[in-house]
Amino acid sequence: MEKADILSMSYDEVIMALDALGEKKFRAEQIFQWLHVKKVTEFSEMTNISLELRTKLDTNFYIKRLNIAKRLESCVDNTIKYLYELDDGNHVECVLMDYKHGNSICISTQVGCKMGCKFCASTIAGFRRNLTPSEMLMEIYTAEKDSGRHVDSLVLMGIGEPLDNYTNVIRFLELLSSPKGRNMSLRHVSLSTCGIVPKIYDLAKLKTGLTLSVSLHAADNARRSEIMPVNDRWNVEELIGACRDYINETGRRISFEYAVISGVNDSERDADELAKLLRGINCHINLIPVNKIKERDFSADRRSVAAFCDRLSARGMNVTVRRTLGADINAACGQLRREYEI
Ligand code: SAH
Repeated sequence: MEKADILSMSYDEVIMALDALGEKKFRAEQIFQWLHVKKVTEFSEMTNISLELRTKLDTNFYIKRLNIAKRLESCVDNTIKYLYELDDGNHVECVLMDYKHGNSICISTQVGCKMGCKFCASTIAGFRRNLTPSEMLMEIYTAEKDSGRHVDSLVLMGIGEPLDNYTNVIRFLELLSSPKGRNMSLRHVSLSTCGIVPKIYDLAKLKTGLTLSVSLHAADNARRSEIMPVNDRWNVEELIGACRDYINETGRRISFEYAVISGVNDSERDADELAKLLRGINCHINLIPVNKIKERDFSADRRSVAAFCDRLSARGMNVTVRRTLGADINAACGQLRREYEI
């Protein structure tokens, strides 16, 4: 019999599995605490559980583990970047950042990515597979154990497209926010998407309280399709329609990400079109000077980013330029894995 991945199981599923093994319900609560609060990686560490049950657990389940293949600590801030090795030899990245209001972690949701955004390192070698709920949880738990720091907020902005791994990501968020386990408020979670429109409608219905970040990067269809192939499937109008629905359903404002790329999307006209598109929408615009990746010659011009920001502000938009953390350790997504796997 194949062992089950206990860290991906919901509280109710653990109760049912224990019941099938002739065990009492309350054991599920103890097991959830060991897994999601004390973050053990061996059943033998569950010391308030009898040896007999621990042996049964070990026969029927396994606890997912990630190996730290590489750990880079920034000299300029407290950023730590982890390269994790998965059981099948694949790698993903995760970044732990120190903000004034606490520690924030950026995790990956897939190995590679199908989306093909032209400026993004994560998509160059294509897609390998989805991450499981337990692998996403372990990105956080392993970083917490290693660093001794408590994660206060989470962003799903690492490698992969979270809404292309919808079922696993939703299960992961349910586990993370379970009052029986880690009990993290989803108000402290941001999920970033390149614009998988039907899944934005689905997510809105769940009313999870998380912040939706939408990678827009261009306001007109021709420009957006040039740099983001997903725009050929769901265009700007369809995307904005889904965003309006998300805001209506959840009452949450949306954060639009805009990677400013010199000579591609940073003209005055681009800023005006962006302001026009987003006028009246409850949102914040996050400008990211595009990170250079060695496979492409995209770059950002500091002065034009500032001018772009000023022009949007002057048009009444709520806009900021994203601060750079971990610049000395290549902390932007997908870059470390690429260096390592080639
Ligand atoms: N697939 C999701 C989340 C992962 S990428 C998404 O597309 O939103 C997280 C953010 O980083 C996205 O806004 C993405 O467009 C942006 N990004 C990717 N490569 C970048 C680069 N080289 N420079 C600046 N931003 C980049």
